[in-house]
Amino acid sequence: MARPRFSVAAAAAAAAAIAAAAAAAGVATGAAADTPMTDADTLDALRRYLRIRTDHPLPDYAGAVGYLRTLCTRAGMTSVTHTLVAAKPILLCTRSGTATEGGGEGGGARGVLLNSHTDVVPAEAAKWSVPPFAAAELNGSIYARGVQDMKTIGIQYIAAVSRLPPLPRPIYLSFVPDEEIGGIDGMGALVDSLHFPPLRVGVALDEGLPTPTSRLRLFTGERQPWWVSIRVTGSPGHGATLPPSTAAGRLGAVLAAVAAYRGEQATRMGPPVKASLGEVVGVNVVYLNAGVANPAVPAGYAMNMIPSSAEAGLDVRVPPTVAAADVEAAILRWLSAGCINGATASLPGGGTQPPMFEWATVCPGLSFRYTHKVDVPVVSSLAAADSGAFAPALTGALDAAGVAWDEDIFPAATDARFLRDRGVPVYGMSVMTATPELLHTHDERLAIAAVADGVRVYEAVVGALAAVPLTAADGKEGGADHSEL
Ligand SMILES: [Zn+2]
Repeated sequence: MARPRFSVAAAAAAAAAIAAAAAAAGVATGAAADTPMTDADTLDALRRYLRIRTDHPLPDYAGAVGYLRTLCTRAGMTSVTHTLVAAKPILLCTRSGTATEGGGEGGGARGVLLNSHTDVVPAEAAKWSVPPFAAAELNGSIYARGVQDMKTIGIQYIAAVSRLPPLPRPIYLSFVPDEEIGGIDGMGALVDSLHFPPLRVGVALDEGLPTPTSRLRLFTGERQPWWVSIRVTGSPGHGATLPPSTAAGRLGAVLAAVAAYRGEQATRMGPPVKASLGEVVGVNVVYLNAGVANPAVPAGYAMNMIPSSAEAGLDVRVPPTVAAADVEAAILRWLSAGCINGATASLPGGGTQPPMFEWATVCPGLSFRYTHKVDVPVVSSLAAADSGAFAPALTGALDAAGVAWDEDIFPAATDARFLRDRGVPVYGMSVMTATPELLHTHDERLAIAAVADGVRVYEAVVGALAAVPLTAADGKEGGADHSEL
């Protein structure tokens, strides 16, 4: 299938709309950043960035931040590095807004934050067609770890900003570490720091996913990971006997209930509902542990002993559109399948969840605990009333640029949750249509044409967001005191 190209006419129309908005806001237009990045500059910058080894477990964050800093400077932005956690620098590049009301950066206008993470997951070089950190070109695509997730997006932000005329609202680019290992020391640390409130972030963009179709996925929320461990204890026994219940057997009953629930959710992804992955509750068994180890026998475990305990781990993913209480109740139903003698699972004290990390016994011999439970059931509404005028500016710019889109829930966790938890509307998108989803896989790649196409979409979108007229929510009241900066 031919890759749908971004319409040049639509881009021109979008640029004209941004210029008109800027003019209406009393802003001089015309003079863009010092050095607008061309498509060739953008591709060159991307390849250099991809070659910086920011794969875990030893990401070269200093190298990445140093390089990105030079790009921001060349694009007319100021930049500052915040090292909130040792060896994990956060780069913040700023393009000031031209609004003058209220004083301060951008006149107290709420800013537009463009977030990307600098780290990437490891790559097994032997399984790639080309070396994963060489950013080689093959069949019209760049092959590299991070080209989809999400170094291209970071470079596209810089290129787009370099081409925009002066606009009322400040634009911030955050380049954060550690997203691939949970983001606590990256965006988590940034939103908790004294550097965050003065930005007065009104809206943010973050990563999405490529789509094999011509339609872009616009993520307004994400599923929350709940990591559940289940442990059953019982009497040990001889492997030749048939006791009425065993630890492993009871755990098997729980896992059968999990499998039935999992099947129901998977069914919802087919017709007639056709839910996306982000809209259904996910559950997978991620570890199993039982048996009496014995290296002296071929199996490595004693084959004639019934183990006295068995444990399993579940990775549960809860969409923000599903009530947490419903999933907590489902977990108790799964556990009930492992209870014996007519018992059902219930928490001591009648609650629905144990404290994090603490085992809660729900019926004799059966307990569970959470080792991780994200509770940010936030969807960033696309309605004007809920997002200020930001969401309509975003979707209007996509429409004007001829980009078809569908609202969706991100199936996994991203840095967006830290921002949503602070009340910032965040929209996740990767402008990578007609592209197979290859995040974290071998041969992660992106068509070269998609790099430049994406910059033009970001130019339209970021331009529209930074041109959203100031309202009472901007300005001095409730805003940052400039002295904090
Ligand atoms: Zn990512």
